[in-house]
Amino acid sequence: MTLKERYEGVINYFKTNVPIAETELQYSNPFELIVAVILSAQCTDKRINQVTPKLFRDYPTAEALASASSDTIFNYIRSVSYPNNKAKHLVNMANMLLKDFNGVIPSDIDQLVKLPGVGRKTANVVASVIYDKPAMAVDTHVFRVSNRLGLTKAKTPLQSEQQLIKHIPEQYVATAHHWLILHGRYTCLARTPKCGECKLTEWCHYFKTKTINKNYPHSLSHKKPNSIKLEITKDIMAKTTPTKKTVKSEKPTIPKKAVVKKAAAKKVAIKKVAPAKPTKSAPAKATTKETKFVAHSTSLKVGDKAPTFSAKDQNGKTIALKDLKGKNIVLYFYPKDNTPGCTMEACSLRDEHQYLSKKNFVVLGVSADDEKMHKKFATKYELPFSLLADTDMAIIKAYDVWGTKQFMGRIYDGIIRTTFIINEKGIVSHVITDVKTKEHGKQILDL
Ligand code: SF4
Repeated sequence: MTLKERYEGVINYFKTNVPIAETELQYSNPFELIVAVILSAQCTDKRINQVTPKLFRDYPTAEALASASSDTIFNYIRSVSYPNNKAKHLVNMANMLLKDFNGVIPSDIDQLVKLPGVGRKTANVVASVIYDKPAMAVDTHVFRVSNRLGLTKAKTPLQSEQQLIKHIPEQYVATAHHWLILHGRYTCLARTPKCGECKLTEWCHYFKTKTINKNYPHSLSHKKPNSIKLEITKDIMAKTTPTKKTVKSEKPTIPKKAVVKKAAAKKVAIKKVAPAKPTKSAPAKATTKETKFVAHSTSLKVGDKAPTFSAKDQNGKTIALKDLKGKNIVLYFYPKDNTPGCTMEACSLRDEHQYLSKKNFVVLGVSADDEKMHKKFATKYELPFSLLADTDMAIIKAYDVWGTKQFMGRIYDGIIRTTFIINEKGIVSHVITDVKTKEHGKQILDL
């Protein structure tokens, strides 16, 4: 397999199966993101998300943070790693942001790394997430996963970054960072990679060789390469290793059982499932109960009066439901601008827009992104409709589309992708929860 084929295989897999990949850090504006990313060094996103709400509430701007003392900030972040240094960095970063950058977070990596507490990784995250730049931030997960897959042969994060940037098409660089992080966080774990559940085996160098190339470390830990043990357990090997013949053919397949298990895991629901009734061919196993996850779904129903709303769109124009009487409205809620799934959905609605207009439809997208981010997104993809900046999430809450969801094995709160069709009388006529992002425009026209 050539390197090009390996990259294509991995990227195509992620494009198809993980269309939405974004940071797990919670933030609502660029200032909050840079603070969260500085705090996240050597710490988990989960921990950071526990401390930032209070910090952002009391210090919502660079001005507020710059006026604080590092001792005060320490008390807010004492549970994260290196709180002393990080408290100083945050206050100094806010001061420099005001003094040297007029309070605006720079988009250039070389400028970003001048800010206290901002290293190359943080700068790349900020540049890619806020400014949609093709920057690859390499953390421990990206470094390990890309080395294991064989996408890189790197000894340092910088080498990893350079090799990934060289081979990943520019439009996927920012998302690839999240793909690799999520894969490393939930599947390709540092100690025991879940090869039995992984669908990248076909392209994975580590899986095929079952040995670690001693010249290239697979993690950023300080273990000597020679001391790294082969970590695939016998059990996984038994499940995933086909016969010698198939290994030679370079196309090992995951056993059907593993695929079925993975497919089952995709189903959403938090409910206790009663044990299956015994049959002659398949007697029931003891009394084990299976817990499944149930994603949140809007409580609004067909026939309900559509909740009123009013918000600015990407051009600063106020769009209100009361001004749209006599129109059919496609009100679609999506997680985030510029992410793959949301881009596919927006482009599908763009491509069908003329047909939707002929049917008296007005298309309105809603997310928690601000006007500036909407403007960038709408301009980049030439979207002919309004995107409402619901930064205080008033519309999202009114339509009950914020809740717990599951993605790539992790459970978290976010905007549940949902579309409401509102008729000329302001009544909800359809609620679409199984949004087909690639053909959402057609999905609506076919109703
Ligand atoms: S096959 Fe195993 S080592 Fe390779 S990417 Fe998947 S989990 Fe990681």
